[in-house]
Amino acid sequence: MANRVKEDEKNERIIRSLLKLPENRRCINCNSLGAQYVCTNFWTFVCTTCSGIHREFTHRVKSVSMAKFTSQEVSALQGGGNARAKEIYFKEWDPQRNSVPDSSNVERLRDFIKHVYVDRRYTGERSFDKPSRVKMGETEDPSENRRTDAYQGGSRSPSYEDSYERRYSRQT
Ligand SMILES: [Zn+2]
Repeated sequence: MANRVKEDEKNERIIRSLLKLPENRRCINCNSLGAQYVCTNFWTFVCTTCSGIHREFTHRVKSVSMAKFTSQEVSALQGGGNARAKEIYFKEWDPQRNSVPDSSNVERLRDFIKHVYVDRRYTGERSFDKPSRVKMGETEDPSENRRTDAYQGGSRSPSYEDSYERRYSRQT
């Protein structure tokens, strides 16, 4: 029994020290100061708001101050944490193009968490297949869009045809 208590104390000490690291002090998702929860799916430190959203996605969340952590969890956290998770889930994150939602905007935060951890949009994995041909706004060079317009010689909407066809095939 005494050993168990000692182990708990040790684990708590380690978690607290991990929480003091600059990368773990802030919520990995919304960057707000004072991360108080651990998401054990990704071994990240998150704020109260984000912990609630993670739960909505059935991710497991533990409170640093309330929950007990096993030694396995502690060593996983030591090997994980926000810096490591950023290398995985934010690998292709471009701060020039994308912005981190702030913690007051729950709607955006929910979308954001879905994109990052559920859709894994920024992990650089091939498994996420972007429908690149459909996405029009992706082109960096605006002159390209103008050229395509000129070729088509008018305002024919390709998306109309697209959705018509899909509707049609569903009926048959
Ligand atoms: Zn947060």
